[in-house]
Amino acid sequence: MKGRSVRLTVMSLLLTTVAIAGMQMAFECNRCGLTEAFSTGGGFRFQQMTCFCTNCSHIVSVTWKRGDAVPKPVTYQLTHQGAVPIYQCPRCFKDTARQWGQKLCPKCGSTNTVVKGTGEIYD
Ligand SMILES: [Zn+2]
Ligand SMILES: [Zn+2]
Repeated sequence: MKGRSVRLTVMSLLLTTVAIAGMQMAFECNRCGLTEAFSTGGGFRFQQMTCFCTNCSHIVSVTWKRGDAVPKPVTYQLTHQGAVPIYQCPRCFKDTARQWGQKLCPKCGSTNTVVKGTGEIYD
């Protein structure tokens, strides 16, 4: 690998790409009151997966370069819905970011949730 300069370039590309492609969403759980903003969709140069970190209690995006293989989960957590992949949280860097399907509340499991666009929608 070429190391640091490559990573920095990728980071700045990610930041600019998030602003032009992808959708800013707001999640709200009517049961436990969790409210989080998150982005969905990929960009020209990257793809992302929405996860919920059980350590810092935030919805986070695990991103990778478009064209690269989907990152391998650190581990799997067995739930009643099957094995859910766990990734490293980009926010607190703990291996506690659980893949999230954007439907059930990732905190309490309630279906009484609202997901809506915040008006910042790009295509
Ligand atoms: Zn909830
Ligand atoms: Zn975290």
